[in-house]
Amino acid sequence: MLEKLTIALAERQAQGLYRQRRIVAGPQSVVQQMDGRTVLSFCSNDYLGLAVDPRLAEAVQRGVQQYGVGSGAAHLVTGHTAAHHALEEELAEFVGAERALLFSTGYMANLGVLTALARAGDPIVQDRLNHASLLDGARLAGGRLHRYRHRDMVDIQRVLHKVTGRCLVVSDGVFSMDGDLAPLAELCQIAAQHQATLMIDDAHGFGVLGEQGRGSVRPGQVPIYVATLGKALGVAGAFVAGSAALIETLIQQARSYIYTTAMPAALAEAVRTSLRIVAQEQWRRDHLQALVQFFRHEAKRLGLPLLASDTPIQPIMLGSAEVANAWSEALYQQGILVTAIRPPTVPKGNARLRITFSAAHQMDQVAQLLTALQQCKAISP
Ligand code: PMP
Repeated sequence: MLEKLTIALAERQAQGLYRQRRIVAGPQSVVQQMDGRTVLSFCSNDYLGLAVDPRLAEAVQRGVQQYGVGSGAAHLVTGHTAAHHALEEELAEFVGAERALLFSTGYMANLGVLTALARAGDPIVQDRLNHASLLDGARLAGGRLHRYRHRDMVDIQRVLHKVTGRCLVVSDGVFSMDGDLAPLAELCQIAAQHQATLMIDDAHGFGVLGEQGRGSVRPGQVPIYVATLGKALGVAGAFVAGSAALIETLIQQARSYIYTTAMPAALAEAVRTSLRIVAQEQWRRDHLQALVQFFRHEAKRLGLPLLASDTPIQPIMLGSAEVANAWSEALYQQGILVTAIRPPTVPKGNARLRITFSAAHQMDQVAQLLTALQQCKAISP
């Protein structure tokens, strides 16, 4: 088996699909030290620039003094501290849900919800471009996975007319690789019409969109709301919000909740601080939106292939993995970091640069990115 791995790795490399890590020395800011050089980064999910906020660092220090470093055990054993509990209550109130439940990562939250709720054979209807963790959750649950065309409300109805039994409809709120929004009002209406239960993964909307950053859905709009805490909130972890019955069911049955160590309490304290900042500092979202609008206006003028996204996720569609790699490399040579996103993360022929903006970027840094992108145009086939 191990000998065959070497051959498979070489094939992957030949196809331009090999993934490599770059080593970051220092904080997660827009100007980073990476592999020994300074780069201007446009690919983090730290949308509000909070990952390096000193108020969060201070909250972690306070948390460590009060609770120590490790949480020691799972939530159902001795790991559930007053900090975790307070954070759950604050998150529930913020999104207008009865209760919320913390998970260690968004990946685990999605696995947990789907495996706890769906029984073998239950239909799970998903947008074709949903995040990998939602697809994996459906498979792990043993549900019957149906994928409708991206954001296509006619196609979802075709699928829903076919399926019978207890059905979950699942969508990203903001699509992680395309940056566009799910048609939420229609999804709510269609799910209700077919007596299906709607689950929204708002990993890229929470903190960024909506009043005070409450996310891409209105409070109470969807029965199962998942969001992550490692992106706009700048820390780590995730939560599920919904009814008391949903949360109690997850506590009893979600294996990725039950059988894992709770996130450190100090991180819960950092998220509590972050949540207050997210609610209060509207200027971060305003500045972010101004950066996005400036970028789109100028990128269109340069004829760059954008998608219809108004969020901080702004892909440049390049087609082949080779071209995406070449653009990424050319940017890197100019001191700008934008990773190439290639299959299987996106469908074949849809490789791209996934540019993301942060409230920590300055307008002149976006202008610098645009100048560098203009140089890349010579690379296209
Ligand atoms: N859902 C979506 C839509 C995501 O983009 C991600 C992270 N890329 C996750 C879930 C997983 O979240 P986490 O990184 O906290 O595991």
